[in-house]
Amino acid sequence: MPHRFPALIADPPRGAGRLWLTGARVFDGSGGRVREDAAVLVDDGVIARIGDAAEPCPQGARPLDVRGRTVMPGLIEAHAHLAGRVPAMRPGAEPELPGTAAHFVQAELRGYLRRGVTTIRFTGSSQSLAPQEARQAMRYGAFRGPRLLTCGKIISATAPGGRFYGQMYREADGADDVRRAVREQIRAGADFIKVMTTGARSNELEDPEPVQLTEAELAAAADETHRLGYRLCAHAEGLAGCEAAIKHGVDTIEHGMYLHQRPDMLEAMAAAGTVLVPTLSGYYEMAGLGDVIDPAKAEPHPAMPPMLASLALHNLDQGAATLRAASRAGVAIAAGGDVVHGTGLEICRMIHHGLTAAEALVAATGTAARAIGLHEQLGTLEPGRLADLLITDGDPLREPELLINPARIWLVLQLGTPVAGQALEAAGQYC
Ligand SMILES: [Zn+2]
Repeated sequence: MPHRFPALIADPPRGAGRLWLTGARVFDGSGGRVREDAAVLVDDGVIARIGDAAEPCPQGARPLDVRGRTVMPGLIEAHAHLAGRVPAMRPGAEPELPGTAAHFVQAELRGYLRRGVTTIRFTGSSQSLAPQEARQAMRYGAFRGPRLLTCGKIISATAPGGRFYGQMYREADGADDVRRAVREQIRAGADFIKVMTTGARSNELEDPEPVQLTEAELAAAADETHRLGYRLCAHAEGLAGCEAAIKHGVDTIEHGMYLHQRPDMLEAMAAAGTVLVPTLSGYYEMAGLGDVIDPAKAEPHPAMPPMLASLALHNLDQGAATLRAASRAGVAIAAGGDVVHGTGLEICRMIHHGLTAAEALVAATGTAARAIGLHEQLGTLEPGRLADLLITDGDPLREPELLINPARIWLVLQLGTPVAGQALEAAGQYC
Protein backbone atom coordinates (compact mmCIF):
# COMPACT_ATOMS: atom_id res chain seq x y z
CA MET A 1 0.00 0.00 0.00
CA PRO A 2 1.53 3.36 -0.94
CA HIS A 3 2.34 5.18 2.30
CA ARG A 4 0.82 8.37 1.00
CA PHE A 5 -2.74 7.07 0.78
CA PRO A 6 -3.61 6.45 4.45
CA ALA A 7 -6.96 8.19 4.31
CA LEU A 8 -7.84 6.59 1.00
CA ILE A 9 -7.45 3.00 1.93
CA ALA A 10 -6.93 2.34 5.59
CA ASP A 11 -9.69 4.14 7.38
CA PRO A 12 -13.09 3.43 5.89
CA PRO A 13 -14.69 0.72 8.02
CA ARG A 14 -14.50 -2.62 6.29
CA GLY A 15 -17.60 -4.72 5.96
CA ALA A 16 -17.25 -7.19 8.76
CA GLY A 17 -17.53 -10.82 7.84
CA ARG A 18 -18.18 -12.60 4.61
CA LEU A 19 -20.57 -11.93 1.77
CA TRP A 20 -21.47 -14.37 -1.03
CA LEU A 21 -22.85 -12.62 -4.14
CA THR A 22 -24.35 -15.48 -6.07
CA GLY A 23 -25.89 -15.95 -9.52
CA ALA A 24 -24.04 -12.98 -10.92
CA ARG A 25 -22.80 -12.07 -14.32
CA VAL A 26 -19.25 -10.88 -13.56
CA PHE A 27 -17.43 -8.21 -15.55
CA ASP A 28 -13.98 -8.10 -14.03
CA GLY A 29 -12.70 -4.73 -15.31
CA SER A 30 -9.74 -6.23 -17.17
CA GLY A 31 -11.50 -6.88 -20.47
CA GLY A 32 -11.36 -10.63 -19.93
CA ARG A 33 -14.23 -13.00 -20.55
CA VAL A 34 -17.52 -12.15 -18.84
CA ARG A 35 -18.57 -14.95 -16.51
CA GLU A 36 -22.18 -16.02 -16.24
CA ASP A 37 -23.70 -17.73 -13.21
CA ALA A 38 -20.73 -16.83 -11.10
CA ALA A 39 -20.38 -16.00 -7.44
CA VAL A 40 -18.10 -13.58 -5.63
CA LEU A 41 -16.87 -14.16 -2.09
CA VAL A 42 -16.05 -10.98 -0.18
CA ASP A 43 -14.16 -11.40 3.06
CA ASP A 44 -13.62 -8.45 5.39
CA GLY A 45 -13.81 -5.90 2.61
CA VAL A 46 -11.56 -7.76 0.20
CA ILE A 47 -12.45 -9.96 -2.77
CA ALA A 48 -11.51 -13.45 -1.64
CA ARG A 49 -12.39 -15.46 -4.74
CA ILE A 50 -14.63 -15.78 -7.78
CA GLY A 51 -16.64 -18.97 -7.65
CA ASP A 52 -19.63 -20.61 -9.25
CA ALA A 53 -23.32 -20.04 -8.50
CA ALA A 54 -23.77 -23.81 -8.26
CA GLU A 55 -21.53 -23.92 -5.18
CA PRO A 56 -23.11 -23.87 -1.74
CA CYS A 57 -22.76 -20.64 0.19
CA PRO A 58 -19.41 -20.78 2.02
CA GLN A 59 -19.55 -21.24 5.75
CA GLY A 60 -20.14 -18.09 7.72
CA ALA A 61 -20.98 -16.03 4.62
CA ARG A 62 -24.17 -14.04 4.12
CA PRO A 63 -25.69 -14.93 0.74
CA LEU A 64 -27.02 -12.23 -1.59
CA ASP A 65 -28.86 -13.42 -4.69
CA VAL A 66 -27.92 -11.22 -7.65
CA ARG A 67 -29.35 -13.28 -10.52
CA GLY A 68 -30.09 -11.14 -13.59
CA ARG A 69 -27.64 -8.55 -12.39
CA THR A 70 -24.05 -7.70 -13.24
CA VAL A 71 -21.30 -7.41 -10.64
CA MET A 72 -18.36 -5.25 -11.65
CA PRO A 73 -15.70 -3.10 -10.03
CA GLY A 74 -17.03 0.25 -8.83
CA LEU A 75 -16.57 2.95 -11.45
CA ILE A 76 -13.45 5.09 -11.19
CA GLU A 77 -13.77 8.66 -12.40
CA ALA A 78 -10.33 9.71 -13.65
CA HIS A 79 -10.92 13.40 -14.37
CA ALA A 80 -13.41 15.61 -12.61
CA HIS A 81 -13.57 18.97 -10.92
CA LEU A 82 -15.29 19.41 -7.61
CA ALA A 83 -17.86 22.14 -8.20
CA GLY A 84 -19.35 22.30 -4.71
CA ARG A 85 -20.95 25.62 -5.28
CA VAL A 86 -24.31 27.03 -4.38
CA PRO A 87 -26.51 27.33 -7.47
CA ALA A 88 -27.43 30.86 -8.57
CA MET A 89 -29.16 32.56 -5.69
CA ARG A 90 -32.63 34.02 -6.21
CA PRO A 91 -32.65 37.81 -6.53
CA GLY A 92 -33.52 39.23 -3.15
CA ALA A 93 -32.77 35.97 -1.32
CA GLU A 94 -30.41 35.92 1.65
CA PRO A 95 -26.80 36.18 0.40
CA GLU A 96 -24.66 33.05 0.48
CA LEU A 97 -23.32 32.14 3.91
CA PRO A 98 -19.68 31.07 4.24
CA GLY A 99 -20.37 27.40 5.05
CA THR A 100 -23.20 26.67 2.63
CA ALA A 101 -20.99 25.55 -0.26
CA ALA A 102 -19.54 22.69 1.84
CA HIS A 103 -22.99 21.09 1.97
CA PHE A 104 -23.07 21.13 -1.81
CA VAL A 105 -19.65 19.44 -1.85
CA GLN A 106 -21.13 16.67 0.25
CA ALA A 107 -24.22 16.38 -1.97
CA GLU A 108 -21.99 16.16 -5.04
CA LEU A 109 -19.87 13.37 -3.56
CA ARG A 110 -22.89 11.38 -2.41
CA GLY A 111 -24.27 11.79 -5.92
CA TYR A 112 -21.18 10.13 -7.38
CA LEU A 113 -21.52 7.17 -5.07
CA ARG A 114 -25.22 6.83 -5.93
CA ARG A 115 -24.20 6.62 -9.61
CA GLY A 116 -21.78 3.77 -8.93
CA VAL A 117 -18.56 5.82 -8.74
CA THR A 118 -16.52 4.50 -5.82
CA THR A 119 -13.26 6.35 -6.54
CA ILE A 120 -12.68 9.75 -8.05
CA ARG A 121 -9.61 11.73 -9.08
CA PHE A 122 -10.19 15.46 -8.76
CA THR A 123 -8.06 17.33 -11.27
CA GLY A 124 -8.72 20.75 -9.80
CA SER A 125 -11.19 22.54 -7.59
CA SER A 126 -12.09 26.22 -7.42
CA GLN A 127 -11.96 25.90 -3.63
CA SER A 128 -8.55 24.34 -3.44
CA LEU A 129 -8.90 22.60 -0.07
CA ALA A 130 -12.49 21.36 -0.55
CA PRO A 131 -11.47 17.82 -1.58
CA GLN A 132 -9.17 17.43 1.44
CA GLU A 133 -11.85 18.81 3.76
CA ALA A 134 -14.48 16.47 2.37
CA ARG A 135 -12.10 13.52 2.65
CA GLN A 136 -11.40 14.34 6.26
CA ALA A 137 -15.13 14.59 6.99
CA MET A 138 -15.70 11.19 5.35
CA ARG A 139 -12.80 9.68 7.24
CA TYR A 140 -14.46 10.53 10.52
CA GLY A 141 -17.88 9.32 9.44
CA ALA A 142 -19.75 12.51 8.51
CA PHE A 143 -21.08 10.96 5.30
CA ARG A 144 -20.31 8.38 2.64
CA GLY A 145 -18.77 9.32 -0.68
CA PRO A 146 -16.22 7.92 -3.11
CA ARG A 147 -12.61 7.58 -2.01
CA LEU A 148 -11.03 10.61 -3.57
CA LEU A 149 -7.69 11.76 -4.87
CA THR A 150 -6.82 15.40 -5.40
CA CYS A 151 -4.03 17.32 -7.12
CA GLY A 152 -4.47 20.24 -4.73
CA LYS A 153 -3.90 23.32 -6.88
CA ILE A 154 -3.03 22.92 -10.55
CA ILE A 155 0.48 24.20 -11.25
CA SER A 156 0.42 26.70 -14.10
CA ALA A 157 2.68 29.39 -15.48
CA THR A 158 1.37 32.86 -14.77
CA ALA A 159 -1.41 32.85 -17.35
CA PRO A 160 -4.89 34.21 -18.02
CA GLY A 161 -6.49 31.03 -16.62
CA GLY A 162 -5.29 32.14 -13.20
CA ARG A 163 -8.05 34.75 -13.24
CA PHE A 164 -10.91 32.42 -14.19
CA TYR A 165 -11.20 29.57 -11.73
CA GLY A 166 -11.06 30.83 -8.17
CA GLN A 167 -8.28 29.13 -6.22
CA MET A 168 -7.74 26.35 -8.75
CA TYR A 169 -4.28 27.38 -9.94
CA ARG A 170 -0.93 27.86 -8.26
CA GLU A 171 0.91 30.05 -10.70
CA ALA A 172 4.65 29.39 -10.72
CA ASP A 173 7.46 30.81 -12.82
CA GLY A 174 10.98 29.50 -13.05
CA ALA A 175 12.19 26.01 -12.23
CA ASP A 176 12.69 26.65 -8.50
CA ASP A 177 9.23 28.14 -8.10
CA VAL A 178 7.68 25.20 -9.96
CA ARG A 179 9.55 22.79 -7.67
CA ARG A 180 8.31 24.69 -4.67
CA ALA A 181 4.77 24.63 -6.05
CA VAL A 182 4.97 20.82 -6.30
CA ARG A 183 6.10 20.63 -2.68
CA GLU A 184 3.33 22.96 -1.57
CA GLN A 185 0.67 20.70 -3.07
CA ILE A 186 2.12 17.65 -1.34
CA ARG A 187 2.26 19.64 1.89
CA ALA A 188 -1.44 20.45 1.45
CA GLY A 189 -2.37 16.79 1.02
CA ALA A 190 -2.25 16.27 -2.74
CA ASP A 191 -2.20 12.68 -3.98
CA PHE A 192 -0.75 13.54 -7.39
CA ILE A 193 0.47 16.65 -9.21
CA LYS A 194 -1.17 18.35 -12.17
CA VAL A 195 0.54 20.82 -14.49
CA MET A 196 -0.81 22.92 -17.32
CA THR A 197 1.51 22.28 -20.24
CA THR A 198 -0.80 24.39 -22.40
CA GLY A 199 -3.57 26.88 -21.88
CA ALA A 200 -7.18 25.75 -21.53
CA ARG A 201 -9.90 26.47 -24.05
CA SER A 202 -12.52 26.57 -21.35
CA ASN A 203 -11.79 30.30 -21.26
CA GLU A 204 -11.47 32.83 -24.04
CA LEU A 205 -8.04 34.21 -23.17
CA GLU A 206 -5.79 31.16 -23.17
CA ASP A 207 -3.98 29.72 -26.15
CA PRO A 208 -3.82 25.94 -26.21
CA GLU A 209 -1.09 25.81 -28.83
CA PRO A 210 2.28 26.87 -27.37
CA VAL A 211 3.86 24.99 -24.49
CA GLN A 212 3.09 27.12 -21.47
CA LEU A 213 5.98 25.98 -19.28
CA THR A 214 9.61 26.24 -20.28
CA GLU A 215 11.70 23.14 -20.71
CA ALA A 216 13.37 23.81 -17.35
CA GLU A 217 10.03 24.36 -15.56
CA LEU A 218 8.46 21.17 -16.87
CA ALA A 219 11.63 19.21 -16.13
CA ALA A 220 11.52 20.52 -12.54
CA ALA A 221 7.85 19.56 -12.13
CA ALA A 222 8.46 16.05 -13.47
CA ASP A 223 11.63 15.53 -11.47
CA GLU A 224 10.22 16.72 -8.15
CA THR A 225 6.94 14.86 -8.55
CA HIS A 226 8.51 11.55 -9.49
CA ARG A 227 11.46 11.91 -7.11
CA LEU A 228 8.97 12.11 -4.24
CA GLY A 229 7.03 9.10 -5.53
CA TYR A 230 3.95 10.82 -6.93
CA ARG A 231 2.27 10.70 -10.31
CA LEU A 232 2.22 13.58 -12.75
CA CYS A 233 -0.84 14.54 -14.76
CA ALA A 234 -0.69 17.06 -17.59
CA HIS A 235 -3.40 19.23 -19.04
CA ALA A 236 -2.28 19.19 -22.68
CA GLU A 237 -4.40 20.44 -25.55
CA GLY A 238 -2.08 21.52 -28.39
CA LEU A 239 0.39 19.07 -29.85
CA ALA A 240 3.47 20.98 -28.63
CA GLY A 241 2.22 20.61 -25.04
CA CYS A 242 1.50 16.92 -25.59
CA GLU A 243 4.95 16.34 -27.04
CA ALA A 244 6.63 18.08 -24.10
CA ALA A 245 4.53 16.12 -21.63
CA ILE A 246 5.42 12.81 -23.27
CA LYS A 247 9.09 13.78 -23.41
CA HIS A 248 9.16 14.53 -19.68
CA GLY A 249 7.44 11.28 -18.77
CA VAL A 250 4.09 12.46 -17.41
CA ASP A 251 1.86 9.61 -16.33
CA THR A 252 -1.44 10.83 -17.76
CA ILE A 253 -2.34 13.24 -20.54
CA GLU A 254 -5.66 15.01 -20.10
CA HIS A 255 -7.60 15.97 -23.27
CA GLY A 256 -4.86 15.59 -25.95
CA MET A 257 -7.56 15.93 -28.60
CA TYR A 258 -5.28 16.50 -31.59
CA LEU A 259 -3.04 13.50 -30.95
CA HIS A 260 -4.58 11.53 -33.84
CA GLN A 261 -2.61 13.91 -36.08
CA ARG A 262 0.65 12.57 -34.65
CA PRO A 263 0.72 8.76 -34.71
CA ASP A 264 4.34 8.91 -33.51
CA MET A 265 3.21 10.46 -30.24
CA LEU A 266 0.49 7.85 -29.75
CA GLU A 267 3.11 5.18 -30.36
CA ALA A 268 5.38 6.78 -27.75
CA MET A 269 2.51 6.86 -25.25
CA ALA A 270 1.67 3.22 -25.86
CA ALA A 271 5.33 2.26 -25.40
CA ALA A 272 5.71 4.27 -22.18
CA GLY A 273 2.33 3.28 -20.69
CA THR A 274 1.17 6.90 -20.62
CA VAL A 275 -2.58 6.99 -20.05
CA LEU A 276 -4.81 9.23 -22.15
CA VAL A 277 -7.92 10.71 -20.53
CA PRO A 278 -9.94 12.00 -23.50
CA THR A 279 -12.68 13.86 -21.51
CA LEU A 280 -15.19 13.94 -24.39
CA SER A 281 -17.95 15.09 -22.06
CA GLY A 282 -16.10 18.35 -21.41
CA TYR A 283 -16.50 19.28 -25.09
CA TYR A 284 -20.18 18.30 -25.03
CA GLU A 285 -20.69 20.59 -22.06
CA MET A 286 -18.84 23.52 -23.60
CA ALA A 287 -20.69 23.02 -26.90
CA GLY A 288 -24.02 23.15 -25.03
CA LEU A 289 -24.96 19.54 -25.72
CA GLY A 290 -26.27 18.80 -22.23
CA ASP A 291 -26.92 15.13 -21.64
CA VAL A 292 -27.09 13.95 -25.25
CA ILE A 293 -24.98 11.06 -26.46
CA ASP A 294 -25.26 11.48 -30.25
CA PRO A 295 -24.36 15.11 -31.04
CA ALA A 296 -25.90 14.80 -34.51
CA LYS A 297 -29.32 14.35 -32.92
CA ALA A 298 -29.35 17.49 -30.81
CA GLU A 299 -29.52 21.23 -31.14
CA PRO A 300 -26.71 22.75 -29.06
CA HIS A 301 -27.61 25.39 -26.48
CA PRO A 302 -24.24 26.76 -25.46
CA ALA A 303 -23.84 29.10 -22.52
CA MET A 304 -20.25 29.93 -23.48
CA PRO A 305 -19.20 32.66 -25.92
CA PRO A 306 -19.89 31.49 -29.51
CA MET A 307 -16.19 31.24 -30.37
CA LEU A 308 -15.55 28.78 -27.51
CA ALA A 309 -18.75 26.83 -28.18
CA SER A 310 -17.94 26.28 -31.85
CA LEU A 311 -14.35 25.39 -30.98
CA ALA A 312 -15.74 22.81 -28.54
CA LEU A 313 -17.69 21.15 -31.38
CA HIS A 314 -14.48 21.03 -33.44
CA ASN A 315 -12.57 19.66 -30.44
CA LEU A 316 -15.22 17.00 -29.95
CA ASP A 317 -14.60 15.77 -33.50
CA GLN A 318 -10.87 15.87 -32.91
CA GLY A 319 -11.10 14.19 -29.52
CA ALA A 320 -13.30 11.45 -30.95
CA ALA A 321 -10.79 10.84 -33.77
CA THR A 322 -8.02 10.68 -31.17
CA LEU A 323 -10.03 8.24 -29.03
CA ARG A 324 -10.23 5.84 -31.98
CA ALA A 325 -6.61 6.36 -33.07
CA ALA A 326 -5.32 5.93 -29.52
CA SER A 327 -7.32 2.75 -29.08
CA ARG A 328 -5.94 1.35 -32.35
CA ALA A 329 -2.40 2.33 -31.30
CA GLY A 330 -2.74 0.46 -28.01
CA VAL A 331 -2.68 3.56 -25.78
CA ALA A 332 -4.25 3.01 -22.36
CA ILE A 333 -7.46 5.07 -22.17
CA ALA A 334 -9.14 6.10 -18.92
CA ALA A 335 -12.65 7.53 -18.58
CA GLY A 336 -12.88 11.05 -17.23
CA GLY A 337 -16.09 13.00 -17.49
CA ASP A 338 -14.69 16.51 -16.77
CA VAL A 339 -18.22 17.52 -15.71
CA VAL A 340 -20.11 16.89 -12.48
CA HIS A 341 -21.55 13.36 -12.37
CA GLY A 342 -20.37 12.72 -15.94
CA THR A 343 -18.84 9.25 -15.60
CA GLY A 344 -21.75 7.19 -16.98
CA LEU A 345 -22.29 9.65 -19.80
CA GLU A 346 -18.59 9.58 -20.67
CA ILE A 347 -18.76 5.79 -20.96
CA CYS A 348 -21.79 6.01 -23.30
CA ARG A 349 -20.13 8.75 -25.34
CA MET A 350 -16.87 6.79 -25.71
CA ILE A 351 -18.95 3.92 -27.05
CA HIS A 352 -20.86 6.22 -29.41
CA HIS A 353 -17.53 7.50 -30.76
CA GLY A 354 -15.94 4.14 -31.41
CA LEU A 355 -14.96 2.09 -28.35
CA THR A 356 -16.68 -1.21 -27.71
CA ALA A 357 -18.77 -1.36 -24.55
CA ALA A 358 -16.16 -3.62 -22.95
CA GLU A 359 -13.36 -1.18 -23.82
CA ALA A 360 -15.28 1.76 -22.37
CA LEU A 361 -16.05 -0.15 -19.17
CA VAL A 362 -12.39 -1.15 -18.81
CA ALA A 363 -11.54 2.56 -19.29
CA ALA A 364 -13.75 3.34 -16.29
CA THR A 365 -12.43 0.52 -14.09
CA GLY A 366 -9.13 -1.30 -14.69
CA THR A 367 -7.42 1.39 -16.76
CA ALA A 368 -8.75 4.23 -14.63
CA ALA A 369 -7.21 2.50 -11.61
CA ARG A 370 -3.92 2.34 -13.51
CA ALA A 371 -4.22 6.05 -14.38
CA ILE A 372 -4.51 6.97 -10.71
CA GLY A 373 -1.84 4.53 -9.56
CA LEU A 374 -4.15 2.29 -7.50
CA HIS A 375 -4.38 -0.70 -9.86
CA GLU A 376 -2.96 -3.03 -7.22
CA GLN A 377 -5.86 -2.17 -4.93
CA LEU A 378 -8.78 -1.26 -7.18
CA GLY A 379 -10.32 -1.43 -10.62
CA THR A 380 -10.49 -5.16 -11.25
CA LEU A 381 -12.58 -7.87 -9.72
CA GLU A 382 -10.03 -10.43 -8.65
CA PRO A 383 -8.82 -11.99 -5.41
CA GLY A 384 -6.97 -9.54 -3.19
CA ARG A 385 -8.54 -6.37 -4.60
CA LEU A 386 -10.64 -4.16 -2.34
CA ALA A 387 -14.35 -4.95 -2.59
CA ASP A 388 -15.55 -1.65 -4.06
CA LEU A 389 -18.26 -3.06 -6.28
CA LEU A 390 -21.13 -1.97 -8.49
CA ILE A 391 -24.12 -4.24 -9.06
CA THR A 392 -26.36 -3.15 -11.92
CA ASP A 393 -29.84 -4.22 -12.92
CA GLY A 394 -29.10 -5.75 -16.32
CA ASP A 395 -25.94 -5.92 -18.38
CA PRO A 396 -24.02 -2.67 -19.04
CA LEU A 397 -22.15 -4.38 -21.89
CA ARG A 398 -25.40 -4.77 -23.80
CA GLU A 399 -27.13 -1.70 -22.39
CA PRO A 400 -24.51 0.85 -21.29
CA GLU A 401 -27.18 3.56 -20.88
CA LEU A 402 -28.30 1.83 -17.70
CA LEU A 403 -25.25 3.49 -16.12
CA ILE A 404 -26.94 6.88 -16.47
CA ASN A 405 -30.17 5.68 -14.90
CA PRO A 406 -29.96 5.66 -11.08
CA ALA A 407 -32.91 3.23 -10.95
CA ARG A 408 -30.64 0.62 -12.60
CA ILE A 409 -27.77 1.18 -10.15
CA TRP A 410 -28.93 -1.60 -7.88
CA LEU A 411 -26.26 -1.69 -5.21
CA VAL A 412 -22.93 0.01 -4.57
CA LEU A 413 -20.52 -1.57 -2.09
CA GLN A 414 -17.48 0.01 -0.52
CA LEU A 415 -15.08 -2.44 1.08
CA GLY A 416 -17.87 -4.99 1.02
CA THR A 417 -20.42 -2.76 2.74
CA PRO A 418 -23.60 -1.80 0.84
CA VAL A 419 -23.60 2.00 0.82
CA ALA A 420 -25.92 3.17 -1.97
CA GLY A 421 -28.29 2.09 -4.70
CA GLN A 422 -31.84 1.26 -5.63
CA ALA A 423 -31.91 -1.85 -3.44
CA LEU A 424 -31.18 0.18 -0.31
CA GLU A 425 -33.68 2.86 -1.23
CA ALA A 426 -36.36 0.24 -1.85
CA ALA A 427 -35.65 -0.97 1.69
CA GLY A 428 -35.97 2.59 2.99
CA GLN A 429 -32.25 3.20 3.45
CA TYR A 430 -30.46 6.15 1.90
CA CYS A 431 -26.75 6.79 1.78
ZN1 LIG B 1 -10.73 19.22 -16.49
